[in-house]
Amino acid sequence: MAAQRKPMMAANWKMNKLVREAEDYAAKLLPRVADSTDEVDVAVFAPFTSLPTVGRMTEDSAVMAGAQNLYFEDSGAYTGEVSAPMIKDVGAEAVIVGHSERREIFGETDETVARKAAKALEAGLIPVVCVGETKEERDAGGMWEKVSGQVRAVMDGLDSPSGDSVVFAYEPIWAIGTGETASPEDAQEAIGQIRGLLGELGGEEFAHSVRILYGGSIKPSNAADIMAQDDVDGGLVGGASLEADSFAELVEVARQSVAQNEDDAQERMVE
Ligand code: PEP
Repeated sequence: MAAQRKPMMAANWKMNKLVREAEDYAAKLLPRVADSTDEVDVAVFAPFTSLPTVGRMTEDSAVMAGAQNLYFEDSGAYTGEVSAPMIKDVGAEAVIVGHSERREIFGETDETVARKAAKALEAGLIPVVCVGETKEERDAGGMWEKVSGQVRAVMDGLDSPSGDSVVFAYEPIWAIGTGETASPEDAQEAIGQIRGLLGELGGEEFAHSVRILYGGSIKPSNAADIMAQDDVDGGLVGGASLEADSFAELVEVARQSVAQNEDDAQERMVE
């Protein structure tokens, strides 16, 4: 992780937790991470039913509440959908957009993902934009074509975003929920390429300041090596975020990566 960017550790609960379970989790997590939020942005992406609870419980803390999806219209005849103003109304500050489960299971396209990201940004929510390739695409040498197309589609729809207004997450689909993690080198290579493309599309200042997370079977035992990569600014975590203890451990790993960075910078100054 580069020194100029504050890392983010983000919990994606997916379709898990009843309201009471969300309450218990937040009550456990908040004191555990309170000392880390100066150095690490901590976010919890909850289902819509428990989002108001998480929004309320995180209100007086630096922990961010987030939604896992949104619709790109503000209101109207869109049965079953939830809009950006509704998400903000219950205290959320961020929203996952284009998670591979939304793309693969619910048929979201690059176009709908781009419209959702643009709406989130316009509404003042931080879109956490997910991109990533399937195993077949990677094996056939098509990883970059897929991922660059997803990044381009979103960037085309954003109106001069600043580096802190949007977050990207590289999540190779074959690593999500499978226990198979990308190697730290593969994560760095992909995320470095994405940053390069963001430089072309959004300018160098944007590319240097925007955070790009890695997601895919992160757990406390493998997170430090991934976080040590120059271009990796944190993690989007599914399975290992479901227990407050293991998510708090991941936040601690991110905090230590900041300390490590500072040590490295000091050493370079002395040399
Ligand atoms: C995710 O849901 O975005 C994810 C990366 O899941 P997991 O950590 O379980 O692979």
